[in-house]
Amino acid sequence: MIENKKGRFLEIVCPRCKNAQIVFGKSATRIKCVRCNKLLTKVTGGKTKIKAMVKKVL
Ligand SMILES: [Zn+2]
Repeated sequence: MIENKKGRFLEIVCPRCKNAQIVFGKSATRIKCVRCNKLLTKVTGGKTKIKAMVKKVL
């Protein structure tokens, strides 16, 4: 798991269906895969942890 503190746009890849999507790393929201609806982030203590694979930092 990668903890993103800088608040950048990330390209992440869903571990289940390999669908890539762009997310804003700092947003304290739950991000779901647009294709398979898998939850890709986990919010703990105001920080967003990304459970998906980060392909690229934009
Ligand atoms: Zn997916």
